[in-house]
Amino acid sequence: MFDELQITGRARTHVVQHDVPRFAAHPEVAAAFLRLRAAAARDGIDLRPYSSFRGYDAQVRIWSAKFSGRAPLYDLCGRPRDRAGMGEDDVIGHILDWSALPGASRHQWGTEIDVVDGAVMPPGYKPQLLPAEVADGGLFAPLHRWLDAHIHEHGFFRPYARFQGGMFPEPWHLSYAPVSMRAIDDLTLEILRRCTEASDIPGRARVLERLPEIFERHVRNIVPPPAECRW
Ligand SMILES: [Zn+2]
Repeated sequence: MFDELQITGRARTHVVQHDVPRFAAHPEVAAAFLRLRAAAARDGIDLRPYSSFRGYDAQVRIWSAKFSGRAPLYDLCGRPRDRAGMGEDDVIGHILDWSALPGASRHQWGTEIDVVDGAVMPPGYKPQLLPAEVADGGLFAPLHRWLDAHIHEHGFFRPYARFQGGMFPEPWHLSYAPVSMRAIDDLTLEILRRCTEASDIPGRARVLERLPEIFERHVRNIVPPPAECRW
């Protein structure tokens, strides 16, 4: 379905750009998201894509900022971790709690969209995409109750709905199953190895040693879509 450059986000020939709201996604995913957004609007929700297609270079910037300490490493509750005494393996592990290895991000497929509700954001509000926003009493809690009830009928699911040893829960991260459940098999360990070998990301040598574990825990290990979310 996707070739090696597309599945690792080093090409964007598989995505289209949409202007209002502004996001980029695979054409089938963009159409499905706009249907979900229209359904949300009928219930008073301004379903906005906060992050959609992200290419390889953007993922490298996220990885490098977290590796170097320019960006924080968050714990399960979304609190910044103290980096004192952390070794390289700890840093790699804590980046992978929340962020994908460049080449291995589902956002590179154009099938994933992180969402917020523009209708409840105060002027100038910058979404954090951290647990407190979606927990009971959080700004986006009502959005998430709506998503619980409606995403599956539109083909979307939450691959990081709960922690199962890989990514921390990201309920705001929606995936369009009819495309992403085909795309996931296009990203093989060998493709990810070639992509990482060709990169100059910090920590690369240790990442390559740990690649089979990273591939199983952080690429293959998703919460699968429910049966009613057909693909
Ligand atoms: Zn996401």
